[in-house]
Amino acid sequence: MTSSRLTVISFSGGRSSAMMTKRMIDSGKYENRVIVFANTGKERHETLDFVHECDIRWNLGVVWLEYDPATKFRITSYENASRNGEPFTTLLSTKVYLPNRVKRYCTGELKVKPIKRYIQSLGVKNWDNAMGIRYDEPLRWGKMIQNTQHEPWFNVLPLYEDEIVKADVSAFWRSQDFDLQLESYQGNCDLCFMKGKKKLTRLIRENPDSATWWLNQESQVGGTFRQRESYSRLVEYSNQPLEPSLFDFEPDYPCHCNID
Ligand code: SF4
Repeated sequence: MTSSRLTVISFSGGRSSAMMTKRMIDSGKYENRVIVFANTGKERHETLDFVHECDIRWNLGVVWLEYDPATKFRITSYENASRNGEPFTTLLSTKVYLPNRVKRYCTGELKVKPIKRYIQSLGVKNWDNAMGIRYDEPLRWGKMIQNTQHEPWFNVLPLYEDEIVKADVSAFWRSQDFDLQLESYQGNCDLCFMKGKKKLTRLIRENPDSATWWLNQESQVGGTFRQRESYSRLVEYSNQPLEPSLFDFEPDYPCHCNID
């Protein structure tokens, strides 16, 4: 049986999300579908390469979207996608405070709204929104499955419904002849403030230049992305020999952008 209601497959650029997309396509149940990828400009190039490779190999027809201050979305492509944080920088230039763990408006403005506005531009009023959230991510699906959002879509979580966990995703990718060229700690916006301090200092140590954009935004917009701790402090930490377990106390926080 095929669905007549539009299903928007929100492809985050991660392994779980890609697996969900492939399973949905292969099921034959989603002929009326749109597959979208919302690019913040701060994802690593490996993520963009992966989205493009999935698109080409699986013939997905991914629609690449980015934030635009006037219309809230613009259509782009793998070739023309922003790679130096431009949509994110533009967004922050319109704001008086930086996004943070409490007010994480970047996800909404850079991902959720561009997708919503694009779908509405197609003349669609209501749709299903498929996200690659796994069964073993209760912090992410807890709210999503309640569908309490006052939005024109209904959340569907195919991986959750099929009780797919991380081990299943890993097995799926072992069976493929290509993969995302990132470890899970490297995904999403490169130094996303939702990552724990341990991951952030590791990432800065591995690539000190990656801190530059975050440092610039803190200086230009004012304030810090992380509560009471600037990225310049993280840079200092990354330059010091630290006990490996020092920042174990600070967890990573899940978000809509997850790429695991
Ligand atoms: S990955 Fe992090 S910084 Fe990027 S849009 Fe999502 S929450 Fe914001």
